[in-house]
Amino acid sequence: MAALVNIPQSTSTVEVSIIDTTSTIHFPTAFFVTPEINDVKTLRGGSYSFLIEHKPSGKRLVFDLGVRKDWKNYAKPLLDNLLSTGAFTLDIKKNVADILTDHGVSLDTIDGIIWSHTHFDHIGDPSTFPSSTSLIVGPGFSAAFLPAYPTNPSSQLLDTDFAGRSLVEIQPSQFDQTIGGYKAYDYFNDGSFYLLDVPGHAIGHICGLARTTTTEGNATFILMGADTVHHAGQLRPSDALPLPDQITPNPLGGPLPCPGEMFEKIHPAPETYQTKPFYHINVDENGNSVAHDPVEAEHSVDHLKEFDALENVFVAFAHDASLEGVIQTFPAKANDWKAAGWKEESRWRFLADWKL
Ligand SMILES: [Zn+2]
Repeated sequence: MAALVNIPQSTSTVEVSIIDTTSTIHFPTAFFVTPEINDVKTLRGGSYSFLIEHKPSGKRLVFDLGVRKDWKNYAKPLLDNLLSTGAFTLDIKKNVADILTDHGVSLDTIDGIIWSHTHFDHIGDPSTFPSSTSLIVGPGFSAAFLPAYPTNPSSQLLDTDFAGRSLVEIQPSQFDQTIGGYKAYDYFNDGSFYLLDVPGHAIGHICGLARTTTTEGNATFILMGADTVHHAGQLRPSDALPLPDQITPNPLGGPLPCPGEMFEKIHPAPETYQTKPFYHINVDENGNSVAHDPVEAEHSVDHLKEFDALENVFVAFAHDASLEGVIQTFPAKANDWKAAGWKEESRWRFLADWKL
């Protein structure tokens, strides 16, 4: 039986923009997911960040910073790690700080940067923000990752990420609500924006849940999914969101619907092709995984499927290439995503990735 996603009622919203961080990342499929389908060995994604504005308090937050433009200036252990995998190709045009200022957002109006987790494609370069901007991180962060480099020569983070800036680590006790199986912290204490404790991918991995509209009895939300999944094929289809017999719009293009049964033969368990996802988190024969705790991470994916199946929640994870060309990014606002049809239009586009 599916867990019930029961989001508390509220009349408060935040304004949300989805930021295209101008990062393009090519990554080996097997680094994140299994099985290999139709010989597709590489996947590509951008890296989405979010600007969140809470009008009543005048506070602004940025959720994630993508990859820093001068990524060769990451902490040496991180850079060595990145180069040694030889697996990623990176192309970054701008820092998030530049994208904001290019569109007239003064950086001293940003109260906090939220790091969903500490991986290179999310931490960007906090030193491009003034020291009045705090850095907000998930549970267990400080014990696991501080001190930073070069104070700690083996740290993947930089002292300059933190210099002069307040570090706010959300404590386990602050996640005092439960929403859709995740522990939740009501950030502005009015139901407009929650931080969700979404464990498994990395220590302190957190997501955001923003209330985007409050039309009577039918509020809408954007779930900032960070790295809970790396491909929409980990979320869809699911028991709660089956693959239709006729898929519209057709992910392979053209005016006619696409028959869902076309994807039966490439599904890892063809008899479940309409109700089980195509991908799972990869764990190799030695138990190694990109996920810090792959079992917990897969539980977190299960919870995300429940949100994803709701018509009033738009799940946007960091590297979802299937949103490109559908959504409007910053400086546009994303609050009216439902009226704009982003969810229906993007939902099955990932099926084109296997080049049937
Ligand atoms: Zn990532």
